[in-house]
Amino acid sequence: MSYPDIVVAGGGNAALCAAITAAEAGKRVLMLEAAPKPYRGGNSRHTRNFRCMHDGPLSVLTGTYGEDEYYNDLLLVTKGNTDERLARMAIRGSQESQPWMEAHGVRFQPSLSGTLSLSRTNAFFLGGGKALVNAYYRTAEALGVEVLYEAPVTHIELDRDRITRVDFTHGGARHSLSPPAVVAASGGFQGNIERLVEAWGPEAENFLIRGTPYNRGDVLFNLLGQGVQSIGDPTQCHAVAIDGRAPKFDGGIVTRLDCVPFSVVVNKHGDRFYNEGEDVWPKRYAIWGRLVAAEPEQVAYSIIDSKSKDLFMPSVFPPVTADTIPELAGKLGLDPQKLARTIGTFNASCRPGTFHPTELDGLATEGLTPPKTNWARPITEPPFYGYSLRPGVTFTYLGFKVDETAQVQGADGPVENLWAAGETMAGSILGQGYLAGFGMTIGTVFGRIAGREAARYV
Ligand SMILES: Cc1cc2nc3c(=O)[nH]c(=O)nc-3n(C[C@H](O)[C@H](O)[C@H](O)COP(=O)(O)OP(=O)(O)OC[C@H]3O[C@@H](n4cnc5c(N)ncnc54)[C@H](O)[C@@H]3O)c2cc1C
Repeated sequence: MSYPDIVVAGGGNAALCAAITAAEAGKRVLMLEAAPKPYRGGNSRHTRNFRCMHDGPLSVLTGTYGEDEYYNDLLLVTKGNTDERLARMAIRGSQESQPWMEAHGVRFQPSLSGTLSLSRTNAFFLGGGKALVNAYYRTAEALGVEVLYEAPVTHIELDRDRITRVDFTHGGARHSLSPPAVVAASGGFQGNIERLVEAWGPEAENFLIRGTPYNRGDVLFNLLGQGVQSIGDPTQCHAVAIDGRAPKFDGGIVTRLDCVPFSVVVNKHGDRFYNEGEDVWPKRYAIWGRLVAAEPEQVAYSIIDSKSKDLFMPSVFPPVTADTIPELAGKLGLDPQKLARTIGTFNASCRPGTFHPTELDGLATEGLTPPKTNWARPITEPPFYGYSLRPGVTFTYLGFKVDETAQVQGADGPVENLWAAGETMAGSILGQGYLAGFGMTIGTVFGRIAGREAARYV
């Protein structure tokens, strides 16, 4: 396409929602996706659900989930670090987006039972994020949206308050376009290990990235370098503890490990370092990413015995198994005597009581530092199992500052023809923490707004 009205940088949920909306408004849209076609869709293809407000039963969602309850949930996780106006727009927009998503090919299913109980608040995609992404691509292409794969945007020229040029590579050549309007929907920068190291220090070399390697922040840093306003803490990222054997990138949701509350967790020196039983796992799994990141070599080991093996969702990687603790230590690369001592001390501090795996049971250690305040049962019954844990980065918080029309803010006011949607502006709403399913809400609502506003401008 030689003269698109709108160029969309990115190929995930936010980019697709923007492209579809703009194409339906009659505009010629070109999407530039950095990834090859089989890997299109960024982190969106790893998702399972989106969080949706509803004043009554809506599609697969049960009961009601009102604006204020949703907003209060957001306040709790962000500790107030949000923009109320934008947050309420995203929340209100989610209700109206759900039927829009269905009308554009997304299919929903009732929530799965298991560790997460989200049937009232979160609508699950049938076939997961991959099916959602594929459905949107089909819809976009039927509307005439042109998609170039392996077409990373390398530079967006900002001249005072206007974008005048978009540079990208494709098919081994450099290209430049000067479209009337641009939407940036190219995610965060967690795929860029050098940038993570700058923000976090050398330990970031050992982080695993749960999603796509293509979200390198090239568009983000390029425009911030030209004076566009940023939002969100550049040194922070959302990280959870995942199986240490997960691949460096794109391990996705299956690499999570739910065994920590029933285990003893040690670092590479065989020492415990945090209360494994502080709270139920859905409320704690996000903090363990940071805890493991602070330990030597950014690795930890979760040890259980046969009593606990079937108490959590099975892991995708089989555990390391042994008949004795020293043997297990050897297989995990830990000092056998040290691990045996740590487990022995832990076992001696456990007290009799009633064990309830699904609730805070108060079964706590006595005289142990750090304590384990729930589910503390001696690890005594072979076989013994061990899993390694690593920090797994979900997304970074740094992004573009936008207003309620998703327009990007330059040094002296809005950039006339630039809008942003999705992870790349989510820091405008999600200053810290994370609310399950809110990433897709922000991308869907602001993607549609960005597409609408860009189309209106052209
Ligand atoms: C394992 C995992 C599970 C998750 N589960 C959920 C969930 O269930 N619900 C939820 O709400 N959120 C979830 N999230 C968060 C969610 O993935 C994001 O909030 C959401 O996908 C962001 O959408 P996006 O379109 O902004 O970014 P992405 O979907 O990541 O898309 C960014 C796109 O930009 C492209 N790109 C990057 N740089 C360039 C460039 N220079 N030029 C051109 N293209 C470029 C990438 O290739 C990619 O296609 C999960 C994240 C992970 C990692």
